[in-house]
Amino acid sequence: MNVVKDVVSRKIAIDTEQEVRLNLTAVYRLLSHFGMDDLIFTHASARIPGEDAFLINPFGLMFREITPETLVKIDYEGRILGRDTNPANAAGFVIHSAILKDRPDLDCVIHTHTRAGVALSCLADGLMPINQFAIEFYDRIGYHDYEGIAFNLDEGPRLHRDLAQNVALVLRNHGLLTVGANIPAAFYFMYYLEQAARVQMDVLASGRKIVEPPLEVVKSTARQYTSAFNPPAAGHRMWPSLLRLLDQVDPGWRGA
Ligand SMILES: [Zn+2]
Repeated sequence: MNVVKDVVSRKIAIDTEQEVRLNLTAVYRLLSHFGMDDLIFTHASARIPGEDAFLINPFGLMFREITPETLVKIDYEGRILGRDTNPANAAGFVIHSAILKDRPDLDCVIHTHTRAGVALSCLADGLMPINQFAIEFYDRIGYHDYEGIAFNLDEGPRLHRDLAQNVALVLRNHGLLTVGANIPAAFYFMYYLEQAARVQMDVLASGRKIVEPPLEVVKSTARQYTSAFNPPAAGHRMWPSLLRLLDQVDPGWRGA
């Protein structure tokens, strides 16, 4: 029992560029493992502590091919730094630089195009608080109208406005985005937003009458989430187990 307690309470160090590279690589490999990738598209980014720069995937690799050394270091003007020569995805730069540059409270942004996430993004109702996965996001999710592929830097202020203080953003007609104060928190939110989207689309596809929890129960449950399970605590609690999972199922993920 004490061993378990020690494992779950250990602080995860993500303080150096190399530690950010390793943990952001884990995000990509986990997204691939859980079927949340989209060939070479979509992106996750993480701030490099103490620098005006962040890491993002090189454009052209599938998530299962990414290693710590292949991640691209890029500044907020779009300049690729250091040893990196790989190009980044232009739309990825627009979305991620816009959020990370002006939100020092956030260190990680994750964006997906999953089947369930894109389907959810097409619904006028958005995320419905009809299951426990979704209720965690009650009053913590924003919506951003579709403007085409995000190549224009002037979309940044509208992404900011729509994200506001939420932990997740539905990119309408496009996909999902989550943010976190650290890498495990952003992944935690994305994993559970994806589960919420999958369940909702399954429920709607059933065509059966939906049992909706009373609004008061939804609100009190959402408060339970923000007090008892609020990331980064929840993200950090599960993160070491996810890294152990990768060591077992995807042994090359730590790179050279
Ligand atoms: Zn996208």
